[in-house]
Amino acid sequence: MTERTIPENVYDVIIIGGGPGGLTAGIYASRARMKAMLVEGSTTVSQITMTDMLENYPGLPGITGMELIDRFRQQALSFGLEIKTEHVTSLRKGRRGDITVWTVTTDRGEYEALSVIVSTGAEWRHLGVPGEDRLIGRGVSFCATCDAPFYRNREVAVVGGGDTAVTEAIYLTKFAKMVKLIHRRDRLRATGILQERAFATEKISFVWDSVVEEILGDNGVTGLKVRNLKSDEATELSVDGVFLFIGLLPNTKLFSELVNCNKDGYIIVDSEMRSSEESLFACGDCTQKSLRQVVTACGDGAVAAHSAGLYVDDLKGQSY
Ligand SMILES: Cc1cc2nc3c(=O)[nH]c(=O)nc-3n(C[C@H](O)[C@H](O)[C@H](O)COP(=O)(O)OP(=O)(O)OC[C@H]3O[C@@H](n4cnc5c(N)ncnc54)[C@H](O)[C@@H]3O)c2cc1C
Repeated sequence: MTERTIPENVYDVIIIGGGPGGLTAGIYASRARMKAMLVEGSTTVSQITMTDMLENYPGLPGITGMELIDRFRQQALSFGLEIKTEHVTSLRKGRRGDITVWTVTTDRGEYEALSVIVSTGAEWRHLGVPGEDRLIGRGVSFCATCDAPFYRNREVAVVGGGDTAVTEAIYLTKFAKMVKLIHRRDRLRATGILQERAFATEKISFVWDSVVEEILGDNGVTGLKVRNLKSDEATELSVDGVFLFIGLLPNTKLFSELVNCNKDGYIIVDSEMRSSEESLFACGDCTQKSLRQVVTACGDGAVAAHSAGLYVDDLKGQSY
């Protein structure tokens, strides 16, 4: 096999995203002695920093999201991973002779790599109803851990019926006088143990078969206009805040023209985390999968780094 010479300033791999997926990929890539760099984003940290406690990450029950990310980060740095806190604004594919080189542009500079791992996660979907945009940060929230203390002895609503909505509703009961959980169906989607806890909590009441049509208030939330989908009746609920957990949108706009995505925008990968582009890999919540959790993002990240490593070794003409 002929060995290729790669220009010095070109990384073996650039990882975009500093959540569990990206940082695990960073740990594996730097420990494998790849020339690796991770861009962690300058405006948001990982989604997991929004939660006060994880109960389901193996071996570390009760750890906070912030501490877990900090531990991942320290572990990656200890293996020599280069981490930059910058926002990626574009990704371009080019050629250097017969090899593909990716150019990653950020708000601070430009970097080149033989392979890229995308781990940009997802963000919470908005309702798209009147009042929502105007009142974000003034009673409309996507993060109970961040904002729950503002609602001590007040009434709040949570919209959604999945694991996150129910977990955050339970957390809010530590502060709020009453939590009204509004769900468009007549049963929750959340895991059994979370449902049991929610039903056992006197401070949570359920507004079934209902959707929010408007968020009311001038300088802060004062209530919600809610429609019952079965009776078609509209009512007003008086609340001081509303927390929205109605599903995720992948952060994949920058990549949607480079790789195949599904109809919801999630990057399609195979079991080796390979996308439709040979040297572009993806992992974690931004990919098409059925379970979006820390443990699955970490597993994906390890596989993505391994696959990127095999690709780069092959390209350089090294085989083991
Ligand atoms: C409130 C809440 C509670 C949760 N509770 C749990 C739980 O108890 N247990 C559990 O396992 N999971 C939980 N999750 C889910 C978990 O947070 C995600 O599954 C996990 O964080 C996914 O990891 P990720 O690396 O794919 O993405 P993320 O953690 O979302 O990380 C994405 C990274 O990409 C970066 N990024 C995005 N765009 C750019 C860009 N253009 N340039 C540079 N960087 C960029 C961001 O800054 C971030 O660093 C919870 C999520 C939320 C919101």
